[in-house]
Amino acid sequence: MANNYYEILGVTKNASPEDIKNSYKKLAFKYHPDRNPGDKNAEEKFKEINEAYQVLNDRNKRARYDSFGHISSDGMGGGFSGFGDIFGDLFDDVFTGGTGRRRARQGASLQHDLEVDFDEAAFGTQKEIKIRKRKLCDDCSGSGAGVGGESICDRCGGRGSVAFSQGPFSISQGCSSCGGSGKIITNPCNSCRGSGLSYTEKVVSVNIPAGISSGMRLVIRGEGEPGAQGGPPGDLYIQVSVKEHPIFRRDGNDIVCDFLISFTQAALGDEVDVPILKGTTKMKIPAGTQPGQTFRLRGKGLVDVESGSLGDQYVLIKVVIPQKLTRKQKEALKEFAGSYNERKEPLIEKYFNKIKNLVR
Ligand SMILES: [Zn+2]
Ligand SMILES: [Zn+2]
Repeated sequence: MANNYYEILGVTKNASPEDIKNSYKKLAFKYHPDRNPGDKNAEEKFKEINEAYQVLNDRNKRARYDSFGHISSDGMGGGFSGFGDIFGDLFDDVFTGGTGRRRARQGASLQHDLEVDFDEAAFGTQKEIKIRKRKLCDDCSGSGAGVGGESICDRCGGRGSVAFSQGPFSISQGCSSCGGSGKIITNPCNSCRGSGLSYTEKVVSVNIPAGISSGMRLVIRGEGEPGAQGGPPGDLYIQVSVKEHPIFRRDGNDIVCDFLISFTQAALGDEVDVPILKGTTKMKIPAGTQPGQTFRLRGKGLVDVESGSLGDQYVLIKVVIPQKLTRKQKEALKEFAGSYNERKEPLIEKYFNKIKNLVR
């Protein structure tokens, strides 16, 4: 594939958007597959032309292309796959093909926001959501015409297209009177007032995979709006957000929770019941545990939505100092303090050695 988009479109680097558009129209018309059935070269050329036009017709993409040259179609956000839209916009009236019918178009995609609980995201669930979308009108099956309210288009004789001559070519153009359908509605359908569409509410089941996180998007193929002219329906996109949990925080597939212990538990050590996603688990607090220390519970995190591997749970220790002591307890602590030289506590000693050199 040649890489210079300007050459492909036969324009100079200084070409105006108008020049580019005109040149593209001419070339796309010439190499369109409908006009060159079975011609591989024309098909290839047609793809090139469309790719070049997608870039040069977009001010930002063109500027990027001018500065950095060819970028893969991925970097261009869709590449060739998006040509249908451009093509549809520019040529819908020109290319109705030999059949005299408009191109089938995929229906619009819909988006729905869905909030799930932390646990639902952790273990997966099935949700029912109600969506409102357009569907083909039941009374007229989407034609838009009432009973007997349709007649053959006079202008095109029902073919949906009209032929005219341009130089040596005979060109088929979509009929403007009937919009390419070949029919004129003389009496519109009462239910849909001629649009051929009505609204419907539908309950759709959505499978929420375990491990899903906020910002992920699920797609349900074919649950969007119906297509036009026999085209396929659009898709339904579910934008997921996950509610916060009262104690668990999420860090990718790992979860983090605080765990509060008393100063005696920290000093003497203990075995505690730590909350995990399902119930609790026993965890040893070693004697001399410090505030801010974390313990890892392997495999107690969330499942990775793609690989199925398990994250871990981190338990962050917070040490609580008693706020109310009885006289007896105070005496016991004083007695302890008398037997204890805190300056000899290794962590404290190390710290004061450090600041000794700073404070003069
Ligand atoms: Zn017509
Ligand atoms: Zn109708």
